[in-house]
Amino acid sequence: MEKKRIKLNSGREKSLLRRHVWLFSGAIAEVAGEPQPGETVDIVDAAGKFLARAAWSPESQLAARIWTFDEKEEIDDAFFAERIRRAIEFRRFLKFDDPKGGCRLIYSEADQLPGLVVDRYGDFLVVQFLSAGMEFHRERIIAQLAEITGAKGIYERSDVHVRAREGLPERTGLVYGVQPPNPLIIEEAGARYAVDIRHGQKSGFYFDQRSSREAVAALATGRTILNAFSYTGAFAVATLRAGAAHVINIDSSAPALAQAAHNLEMNRIGPERYENRVADVFTELRRFTEEGRRFDMVILDPPKFIESQRALVRGCRAYQDIARLGYRLLNPGGVLVNFSCSGLMTPELFQKITADAAVEAGVHPLLIRHLEQSPDHPVSLAVPEGFYLKGLITRLPE
Ligand code: SAH
Repeated sequence: MEKKRIKLNSGREKSLLRRHVWLFSGAIAEVAGEPQPGETVDIVDAAGKFLARAAWSPESQLAARIWTFDEKEEIDDAFFAERIRRAIEFRRFLKFDDPKGGCRLIYSEADQLPGLVVDRYGDFLVVQFLSAGMEFHRERIIAQLAEITGAKGIYERSDVHVRAREGLPERTGLVYGVQPPNPLIIEEAGARYAVDIRHGQKSGFYFDQRSSREAVAALATGRTILNAFSYTGAFAVATLRAGAAHVINIDSSAPALAQAAHNLEMNRIGPERYENRVADVFTELRRFTEEGRRFDMVILDPPKFIESQRALVRGCRAYQDIARLGYRLLNPGGVLVNFSCSGLMTPELFQKITADAAVEAGVHPLLIRHLEQSPDHPVSLAVPEGFYLKGLITRLPE
């Protein structure tokens, strides 16, 4: 049988030599051996020299994702077991291995498993298979995950639109063990959170904001807080537990806010200390401004406003608009915490947009610190695209 092999155009091996793991279709000169979607192929340079072993994604612009640069490494059970063990060891090193807590256990390219995302919620795992290669190996990945982690159950949440780009249908459901309870309860920094892993956003909880919750809680004592785009109120729970005076949560999702109320109650926070509003943040912030409302802290954690290069200018304008509205709502000495989870937004650009928003609002804040995704979402230096979440903490003078 002819070896399944991808030959590159001359000069197109450069990114692979720098250990980047994505191969774009434009780099390919020749495909030999009729590989099927997800099948393993060898990638060779124009002279036929081995470069890497990869998964074939014919439907995607991202035509191959690299498994290994080592010609001796086969893509088998042992390969997946080793990568999974390495990812778990890293979270243990971070001390993100509290059995009652949760974390991102496997983060795709950063863990050299491109297209696989696994979140751990206590004894349960939620998996997403996002590429043809991961889909091809899904049975052995599930088996290895179950064996290595000892999870009670593994639930699939491959209901994300990126699968369509790979020609894969969306899929959800239990793939191993017993059904996880609904809600699942996890602990983080002494707080308890109820998570609906079946219907919640992402896999149910924003683990990527863990380090930001800690940073923001440290500044929250005695403050009145507006928590915009609150989802299930994780920032509210963290800040109120740290002694914040009062929090208003705003989100357009009624189920998310119902879960927020449950989370606050579970953490014994009395109803006099919070208010949940199902509303559009832009409208509500404008209304508050007109009403002359003021807060000591405003948190803005919106969804991704920039999905593609084409949406960049419009997305930047949206980030700037809410930051301006946020600044206008602050008391003297007030703190703005604003985030962008758009990968196409650089930290420099985000800081500039925030600075422009301050000028528009007529305020003169100081930058206290930069925030970023929690370390259980690490970034491979060879694949900087994995860095997506950035935030700023700024403060107005007294
Ligand atoms: N801060 C949250 C995560 C926020 S995710 C946490 O730490 O857990 C973004 C949230 O914004 C989602 O819950 C979504 O329902 C909400 N959302 C999106 N657009 C909105 C809008 N225009 N107005 C209000 N909420 C919105």
